[in-house]
Amino acid sequence: MAEPELVDVDVVVVGLGVGGEEVAGRLAEAGLSVVGVERDLVGGECPYWGCIPSKMMIRAANALAEARRVDGLAGSAQVRADWAPVAKRIREEATDTWNDRAAVDRFTGKGGRFLRGSGRLDGPGRVRVGDQVFQARHGIVLGTGTRPSIAPIDGLADTPYWTNHQAIEVAELPASLLVLGGGAIGVELAQVFARFGVRVTVLEASGRILALEEPESSEVAAAALRADGVQIATDVKAERIDHDGDTFTVHAGDRSFAADQLLVVTGRRAHLDELGLDTVGIDAGQRYLPVDDRMHVTDGIWAVGDVTGEGAFTHIAMYQASIVVADVLDRVRRAGAGPDASGTASVVGGAMGAASAVGGSMGAAGPSGAAGTVPRADYRALPRVTFTDPEVGAVGLTERQARERGINVQVGFTELSSSTRGWIHKSEPGGFIKVIADADQGVLIGATSVGPAGGEVLSALVVAVHAAVPVSQLRHMIYAYPTFHRAIQSALDDLS
Ligand SMILES: Cc1cc2nc3c(=O)[nH]c(=O)nc-3n(C[C@H](O)[C@H](O)[C@H](O)COP(=O)(O)OP(=O)(O)OC[C@H]3O[C@@H](n4cnc5c(N)ncnc54)[C@H](O)[C@@H]3O)c2cc1C
Repeated sequence: MAEPELVDVDVVVVGLGVGGEEVAGRLAEAGLSVVGVERDLVGGECPYWGCIPSKMMIRAANALAEARRVDGLAGSAQVRADWAPVAKRIREEATDTWNDRAAVDRFTGKGGRFLRGSGRLDGPGRVRVGDQVFQARHGIVLGTGTRPSIAPIDGLADTPYWTNHQAIEVAELPASLLVLGGGAIGVELAQVFARFGVRVTVLEASGRILALEEPESSEVAAAALRADGVQIATDVKAERIDHDGDTFTVHAGDRSFAADQLLVVTGRRAHLDELGLDTVGIDAGQRYLPVDDRMHVTDGIWAVGDVTGEGAFTHIAMYQASIVVADVLDRVRRAGAGPDASGTASVVGGAMGAASAVGGSMGAAGPSGAAGTVPRADYRALPRVTFTDPEVGAVGLTERQARERGINVQVGFTELSSSTRGWIHKSEPGGFIKVIADADQGVLIGATSVGPAGGEVLSALVVAVHAAVPVSQLRHMIYAYPTFHRAIQSALDDLS
């Protein structure tokens, strides 16, 4: 068989999820010849099966919950839940019925060349897609994301279980649902479905849901889910799963759990074995692709987003994408090559949904115009929000992580219900603010904000951790009254 002709381009981006789409689009806008390769939908997980449709579901479920709170606060209300408008909104507004034509047009409109297919490395500087091989002059960017990590539980593979894809695409809800995995995605979806009348049971292998967050967060989230009728079973190590055509049964020791449907959300993993990494001397047996602080995997290869293992969040993918764009343009500039390497091309985005880019602004790591000033990744102030009601927002280290690092830790804590706004709001279970300080440095190194607007209140704490604002200054700021964020001051006062 004749060797395929090599097509010379500047950059090849493999995987056009949040991270890859951002990199490919901005490099194309800057005038580079960019080939973007995507085997499924341009935009990736977030707009079609992740953040955006799941938050539409949460918005709808929260509307129901808020209406149910009218009783006792403002009279009485009768609420009849109906999934049809939620499914319709996801289909029509968020995903264009899982069609990426708008996203493809957006990329090609910036001058990029789009290729539908699976890309794999084919030796240094080369990417193969089907029978085409591209030689990348300036580099290759891998933004191939993750897929659900399905544990090899006896019987599971033979059942019609759901991943997040089927859960997001569902048009008619089952009467009952087992959610295997009590992490952020599991508990968000569990609460949504329960609020629409599904009998939901969360099965969690460890001793608490949201096991990566503060124990107090797990307690509040568990109480909130239970109040919505969700059953939570912890320390469940699923050993066998049966499906008899109607019912799923999960067996764990002497316990078993049955429901009409099973949602498996037990984590995500990168699939590195498909990428031809061995052709460039990279070990494909790793869990993720390790990168340095400019997202280099090795010379001429960058990685961006979930595949790097630095945090499976859209905001991480966008943050890293800005660094990659700056670094590639810096390399082009230093190589003396032609296109507009100013790196100031504007970012399209802001509005959400498949018809528009997921992104927003470039953030702190926006591309720099000057050589040698490419920003470096810094994850100290990585924020994360679980969009349950109440929301669980957190930044930086938990108390346990800080202690494990041998830091001289101080902890401050306040219940939201003891703040004026929390008391007025009267929602149970309320929430709290917890701050973790490095006593030697006098700065916050982590914080958690749980409450009706926990994710929004978090922003002040992210600034504090990111900019290492001295605790003494934070204590003497003026906090508006009566806001939820004013509870931060009480937590700071409690530092001991
Ligand atoms: C239910 C759910 C809810 C979520 N909610 C949030 C949230 O509220 N906030 C948040 O920040 N994050 C959230 N996330 C996480 C977020 O979706 C991811 O962090 C984000 O999508 C990562 O983007 P990415 O570009 O790294 O990868 P992905 O979005 O996974 O995109 C990778 C792309 O690469 C393609 N690909 C893979 N291999 C190849 C190949 N060899 N050739 C060609 N194409 C390839 C895939 O088809 C895919 O389109 C959620 C995720 C889920 C599942």
